[in-house]
Amino acid sequence: MGARLGTDDGGPPVVPLALCRPGDELHSALRRYKDGPAVTARRHFACLLAEMLAAFLQEHRSCLHSAVGTWEAVAVVPSSRRGSEAGACPRPFDAVVAGVDALATLPRVALGRGSSVAGHLHPAADAFVAGGPLVGTRVLLVDDTWVTGARARSAVTALSAAGAAVAAVLVIGRCVDPSASPDRARWWEVQRAATTAPGDRCCLAGCPVG
Ligand SMILES: [Zn+2]
Repeated sequence: MGARLGTDDGGPPVVPLALCRPGDELHSALRRYKDGPAVTARRHFACLLAEMLAAFLQEHRSCLHSAVGTWEAVAVVPSSRRGSEAGACPRPFDAVVAGVDALATLPRVALGRGSSVAGHLHPAADAFVAGGPLVGTRVLLVDDTWVTGARARSAVTALSAAGAAVAAVLVIGRCVDPSASPDRARWWEVQRAATTAPGDRCCLAGCPVG
């Protein structure tokens, strides 16, 4: 089940495509598509991530629907960086999502910046504002990485406040640093087997792949 790799915080299920740790290939791709020094490198990694998402949504769509139900709209977790107003500065992740037909062809729910900032560890209830009307709309919330989940949880709060139901939070990489503590290292060893690569089982119950 997604919560195994995700979290049990009482919110919508968090479904990571894969685990990553500092220094590994996915961790590097998740950074370099945003801050790689060359535009060609950024494009290369953005394409890789879009291909990962597209392959996952094709291969594991039925697992996701069985686990979390359906959705009819997509929202992208905004950056929490200060200094640019919502809409004025597109996130690099928007380009990744635009390259995934299964996401790009669905209505997009706009999430703008609210009056406060989600911290690294702490979600903020008013960090983001969702454009409406969304009452009864089931939304798939997507993001590139899950570290503490503070931004994604803030986005869930904004969507819920606007009346939407968040079916799941789909993230490409759940980033964990196994060297942070012995507990984290043990967790990593147990969970890494559930990491998804194309052709592998996903973290959702009853996955028929593999
Ligand atoms: Zn699956």
